[in-house]
Amino acid sequence: MTAATFESIAPATGETLGVFPRSGAAEVDRAVAAARAAYEDWRLVPAPERGNVLFRFAELLKAHKAELTDLMTREMGKVKAEAGGDVQEAIDMSYYMGGEGRRLFGQTTPSELRDKFMMSVRMPVGVVGAITPWNFPIAIPAWKLCPALVCGNTVVLKPAEDTPLLADRFVELLAEAGVPDGVVSVVQGFGEEAGDALVRHPDVPVITFTGSRETGIAVTKAAADRLKHVHLELGGKNAIVVMDDADLDLAVEGIVWSAFGTSGQRCTAASRVIVHEAVYAELQSKLVTAAERLRLGPGWEDETDVGPLINRAALEKVHAYTRIGLDEGATLLTGGEPLAGEPGFFYRPTVFADVEPGMRIAQEEIFGPTTALIPVGSFEDALAAANSVEYGLSSSIYTRDVNRAFRALRDLQTGITYVNAGTIGAEVHLPFGGVKATGNGHREAGQAALDVFTEWKSIYVDYSGRLQRAQIDTAAQRPPR
Ligand code: ADP
Repeated sequence: MTAATFESIAPATGETLGVFPRSGAAEVDRAVAAARAAYEDWRLVPAPERGNVLFRFAELLKAHKAELTDLMTREMGKVKAEAGGDVQEAIDMSYYMGGEGRRLFGQTTPSELRDKFMMSVRMPVGVVGAITPWNFPIAIPAWKLCPALVCGNTVVLKPAEDTPLLADRFVELLAEAGVPDGVVSVVQGFGEEAGDALVRHPDVPVITFTGSRETGIAVTKAAADRLKHVHLELGGKNAIVVMDDADLDLAVEGIVWSAFGTSGQRCTAASRVIVHEAVYAELQSKLVTAAERLRLGPGWEDETDVGPLINRAALEKVHAYTRIGLDEGATLLTGGEPLAGEPGFFYRPTVFADVEPGMRIAQEEIFGPTTALIPVGSFEDALAAANSVEYGLSSSIYTRDVNRAFRALRDLQTGITYVNAGTIGAEVHLPFGGVKATGNGHREAGQAALDVFTEWKSIYVDYSGRLQRAQIDTAAQRPPR
């Protein structure tokens, strides 16, 4: 048992909100042993019953929505409306996956042989290791745990070290909803310690991870020796394309919401805006006006539009990218500095213009309130610029031309594309995830999430009473005498 601890710090004020155990391999061992023992019964609980637990969890999240929302504005820093949306996503996911308890559909299909029946069913995998980031501290654990649980798995959750309080509340409410002892446990602590121990644990066959690309690669390598299933949800460098026929005011609203909401700390944040040169000057001036109107402040204050960044390291990283952009020759239109005289980690909404698609500020994930305007001369150039990054999570196009819209839907290389809306706004019943370096082919949410947390079993029942060989006895079949 380690005596080491770490603190949760409020990003708006720097004050300490709580002290938590800094878990290591021993704590992970204990949690996994409990999850493994609990699995033997939980997998046999009828799925509709497991779903009922999630319905109760959704009700509890609803009852505690105001409390969780307020806590999120303090521990994570996002503004009240967004924090409420984060909790709502968990409520929606819990109801949706609760319903899966009465579906979890497999397939039946006719056999090529007489008197033979075949079907496929979803089977749970075992103990799931869930590693989550701080930016959606209630929603992302729900995206992972709700499907994992309804499928009959048990879970060890390693939440981000920046939002331990919210993770504890999440797991307490799950227990109150009726999740039996051991079915879900939380190990608080750091990624390289608790997280790595969980990834390497021999009794954890599935890892579901949301975080940075670099960590995703490290997790994949650490899990490879045991051929674990790894689900990854990594970064983005999402673009909004604004064509010459777009409704510019609508586009500016979408850009502001997508680039500066959650202070840009969303994997779907619009950190690039690719603009047709015919409307470039007008869009640029409208965007700067809108960005400068945003009020920075603590998330719990009603009049705040943009909250702080999560911690000092994030503030320094975002500011370093401002210097990189200036060195690369981009034009800083607004922002580009921390908010002076504030104890918290506030950074002014930042817009760069005259950005070339290959510049680092147009290629690398910044995870802050910084967006890059990239001028282009044609629709084809816009798509080429949008696709010129290694990530492929979300994209958007503003146009009134239906042909262009459908071409963009086909050709933008992302897992999610919006038409006439920004790059954010996922709902829980469609798959969520990205192509290229955003992930490894899996999806969260919707029916697709079930594939992460189950294995298919194919079942054949021969009721002919004789040996029937597949592929061999098919042609020779006679009606029974
Ligand atoms: P972010 O940049 O969003 O903080 P990280 O990828 O660093 O992204 O962190 C996401 C989650 O992954 C956090 O819970 C963190 O503690 C965890 N983590 C970090 N490093 C590792 C690692 N080597 N192995 C397992 N988990 C890790």
